[in-house]
Amino acid sequence: MPALYVHIPFCVSRCDYCDFNRVVYDRSLADAYLAALEKEIATRVTDAPTTIYIGGGTPTSLNREQLEKLFSLFDFLDLSAVVEWTVEANPGTLSVDKLILLRDAGVTRVSLGVQSFRQAGLDTLGRRHSAKAAKMAVALLQETAFAMSLDLIFGYPGQTPDDWRDDLQTAVKTGAEHLSCYGLTYADGTPLREKIRRGKLTALGENAEYALFALTPTVLASAGLARYEISNFARAGKTARHNLNYWQGGEYIGVGAGAHSYQSGERFENYGGVREYIDAIHARGDAVAAVDKISATARAKECGVIWLRLTDGIDSEQFARRTGFNLRDLWREQLPELLDGGWLEWRGNFLRLTDHALPLADSVLVELV
Ligand code: SF4
Repeated sequence: MPALYVHIPFCVSRCDYCDFNRVVYDRSLADAYLAALEKEIATRVTDAPTTIYIGGGTPTSLNREQLEKLFSLFDFLDLSAVVEWTVEANPGTLSVDKLILLRDAGVTRVSLGVQSFRQAGLDTLGRRHSAKAAKMAVALLQETAFAMSLDLIFGYPGQTPDDWRDDLQTAVKTGAEHLSCYGLTYADGTPLREKIRRGKLTALGENAEYALFALTPTVLASAGLARYEISNFARAGKTARHNLNYWQGGEYIGVGAGAHSYQSGERFENYGGVREYIDAIHARGDAVAAVDKISATARAKECGVIWLRLTDGIDSEQFARRTGFNLRDLWREQLPELLDGGWLEWRGNFLRLTDHALPLADSVLVELV
């Protein structure tokens, strides 16, 4: 039974660093989008999912009626096997009313895009919400007893190790069971990159960014949150099930603008533009823009590279069952050099990135594609 991802591409504003597939919320466009989503879900989601992830964008930028409509789209499905149902949210878009609605629909977990609890950090990142709003959103989630995952960003211009430690410690004190800590990137075409180009802001630089990356597990481990993926930390037993399925090469169905799917050896990608997506659904019943049937070898390599992002690494026996490939055969040419160089190591049946390789994972993994 595949995992189900639902993309809601609306946000109340655009953050300065963001290059995700999202548009500024517009009530009538969101209504039209939900009508298209209804058609897509009814035709493409035929199996009962085990995990559901509603991401964006900001799903909670939808108003109460639209959220009701969104959750009604799952009514025809058997949701008794769902073990985790996550909705992404941002500070400033939550209310007790909305959270009760989420709870009644069956949502078990909220992933809150805090990014920083410090006003200076939020201003630099061009976030619309304030530090106070971030703390209020956390308080609402605590009050309604939702399992909570927080997103934080490190490495923004001007951030010091003390600033980052302070953010991590504030996040830990909220009782969040899961933290995602991403290093800031300066994507092409974003206002933040433009500010760096014009000299209005100065990037921290590799060494300072590395110091923040290295500080993260030290602060979090002492608070009971262990790293299990390069950017993700969880309390015992609280890893993100939906994402684990993705990292371990499981199948998934994605619905909505720009959503990706992987089923029966084929990858699908929907049209990314919201209007394009709506028009395609009405014109022909689906919005698939591209189908990519990749070879079993290419798929196994892709799966292995994503799986190596987990700190435990790849369970080689599970990998063989899932892909039909033995890791030593699949990477016969690359493995000796990467093992000798101290970038990869075997721990029993598990092939993993060494601790030394973690901060440079992208450069190591590209050798294995
Ligand atoms: S809230 Fe998230 S998706 Fe929306 S603009 Fe900001 S970073 Fe992008």
